[in-house]
Amino acid sequence: MKPVVLKSFLLSKFSELVHGISTRISSVNDFNLGNNANCKNEEIKRNREIFFDTLGIDKDRVVYQQQVHSDKFTIVEKPELIQENDALITSQKNLFLVVTIADCIPILFYDKTNQIAGVIHSGWRGTYNQIVKKTINYAISNLSLDRENTFFYFGPSICSECFEVDEDVATLFKSKFVKKKEKKFTVNLTEINLQYLLELGIKSSNIQISHLCTYELEKLFHSYRRDKEKSGRMLGVIGIK
Ligand SMILES: [Zn+2]
Repeated sequence: MKPVVLKSFLLSKFSELVHGISTRISSVNDFNLGNNANCKNEEIKRNREIFFDTLGIDKDRVVYQQQVHSDKFTIVEKPELIQENDALITSQKNLFLVVTIADCIPILFYDKTNQIAGVIHSGWRGTYNQIVKKTINYAISNLSLDRENTFFYFGPSICSECFEVDEDVATLFKSKFVKKKEKKFTVNLTEINLQYLLELGIKSSNIQISHLCTYELEKLFHSYRRDKEKSGRMLGVIGIK
């Protein structure tokens, strides 16, 4: 059985593009794809090969990033591991950008006019640091990203009902995105990231949001909040053939 890979209907329109998000469903138990590129674990290496094979991606043409919940993005031109980084952009063909997932929002995007692909990792720290806004704003100003023809896919992440935080985190965000939940608070990170894109002039019809919750859908997804240190990771990937 091939692993189950989620795709965006918006991004699937482009035949020159390859993209997908892994799940736990595969012939390999748990299908953990690990949390960094230097992972020595043979099982994770093999799982990654299976995942990339399923999408027709050469595993030696992949760019990884060591995600640190920052606002740092990098333009990449060759396969490598970018340290301390949370967004990747490329216009190179046959280069595939990876985002590691276990609750934070993975965002894949593609500008069909300029053939620019990218990934962004945005959890609460990334959202607070405005990584989405900074990455896309940079691409608009410096790479002539075509707002009309750039398409975004927010992959599965922890939903706003499950994302409980204490007051110290809740107060970092505008009150319209925060709800009181008994002694805790919840923050709608998806909505905040969506607003960043709308403020930059991206049309809502160019943005697809997966409302699948990594925390709730235990059979389908890994979740760091749910499984703590034992949690595996999914990968999201995008690239131009
Ligand atoms: Zn949920």
